[in-house]
Amino acid sequence: MRVLFASSEIYPFAKTGGLADVSYSLPKALSEIGVSVKTVMPLYGCVDTEKFGIRSTGRKVRVSLSAGDFEFEVYHLSDGVEHYFLKNFLFGREYLYGTPEGDYPDNDVRFGAFCHAVVKLIEDGFFRGEIVHVNDWQTSLIPVLIKRKGLRIRTLQTIHNLAYQGVFPKETVERLNLGWELFNMEALEFWGKVNFLKGGIVFSDAVSTVSPTYAREITTPEFGFGLDGVLRKYSYKLFGILNGIDYDVWNPETDRYIYINYTESSIGNKEENKRYFVKETGLREGDWPLFVFIGRLAKQKGIDLFMEKLNEIRELPANFAILGTGDSYYNEFFNSIKGKYENIFVEVAFDEPLSRKMYASADFLLMPSLYEPCGLNQMIAMRYGTLVVARKTGGLADTVRDISEPGGYGFLFEEFNSDEFLSSVKRAVEFYRSNRERLLRLKQFVMGIDFSWNSSALKYFRLYENLIEGRI
Ligand code: ADP
Repeated sequence: MRVLFASSEIYPFAKTGGLADVSYSLPKALSEIGVSVKTVMPLYGCVDTEKFGIRSTGRKVRVSLSAGDFEFEVYHLSDGVEHYFLKNFLFGREYLYGTPEGDYPDNDVRFGAFCHAVVKLIEDGFFRGEIVHVNDWQTSLIPVLIKRKGLRIRTLQTIHNLAYQGVFPKETVERLNLGWELFNMEALEFWGKVNFLKGGIVFSDAVSTVSPTYAREITTPEFGFGLDGVLRKYSYKLFGILNGIDYDVWNPETDRYIYINYTESSIGNKEENKRYFVKETGLREGDWPLFVFIGRLAKQKGIDLFMEKLNEIRELPANFAILGTGDSYYNEFFNSIKGKYENIFVEVAFDEPLSRKMYASADFLLMPSLYEPCGLNQMIAMRYGTLVVARKTGGLADTVRDISEPGGYGFLFEEFNSDEFLSSVKRAVEFYRSNRERLLRLKQFVMGIDFSWNSSALKYFRLYENLIEGRI
């Protein structure tokens, strides 16, 4: 089975969030079970080709659109998976999608031209295979173009976050030579504009999203971001498959960034990590639980709930560490409280080594998300023996079970409000103070839960098989 996996970001080459992690670890897991996978992404200016050994193949592909003529040069790297990168000046900028002030205004042309180039390479026989698997809106025009050209290759669109759809003015139809016949409600049109992701949903042979609960949620108006009707219409080809994490990348036994490595049987070393971390960051020393938040500073991540309860959090018998970057409003707020409170450490940055120290040092991870398609942080945290305090939504509901239930190992709250959030934090603090033995056993327990790709990669494999054999 041969699969072309198209994504706008792939770890470690370029990453803004979970999409990059999945775009690295899923192809790797698939190739380990015998699928021949090629990945393709844009070659951004920020990708360090020298460091990774990414080289030009000499192959070029040209797309001629009303927006201009674009020639892409194909670069390549093999690390068990064959990675391809398409280079063009459109992507030679500092950021992937935009600056902190906002998205690049020509993202329709950037990613539209990229999709055209990928389809051209398929037509030319450069990419051969049975399946094209596209991810999020940036690659959604690929299935649209494949269907329009009548190419005999099956397509799967995965939705990693429905909030981002790639919506552009209707002139985009012209700029990308899409053909006005596609500008109707049954295809790309969305309230007078062009919606890339909608095209991917309509024209792909199957659609998947990253957890079973999120697959149900996105067919409701509350979580559908205007596409719930379309998703209900196509629910016969909609599937929810939980993401995994790469157990080689995320492993407290071998992680070279953490202070002291540990396993389930040497869980005592986790405490040592906390001691070092608290010292290094200047947090209060002593026997306090450590809560961490790691993630994009965006409304989705529920960071407002933390901000609303800042006065109470300052008074809790606990330490907190926040690592994140995102919308300028939140960046400014967190920069303004940096160093102000003795039990709150703040770093407004994207810093993977620091995030690893935090996963290793924490007792609890905070994930009060408004919605969460899958969420990787909670799985990484548990792999590092950190219990999770989260809102019961999307993938969080599929991976965390509340301590009050039989076999429970986390702290969940249901309503998205700061009172419920605070009381779940307090429940965790109380648990830390009064159940130390059980806490230790639960930390060991969550380290042993299987969040690897083992079972989910097989589910994708079966989905591909069903597509190839025409059962979907
Ligand atoms: P998202 O919605 O942002 O994709 P996920 O939970 O799916 O959220 O994935 C987040 C990934 O990005 C995790 O690997 C997490 O550790 C990482 N991450 C997020 N923010 C930061 C940051 N500021 N510094 C380091 N890593 C981060």
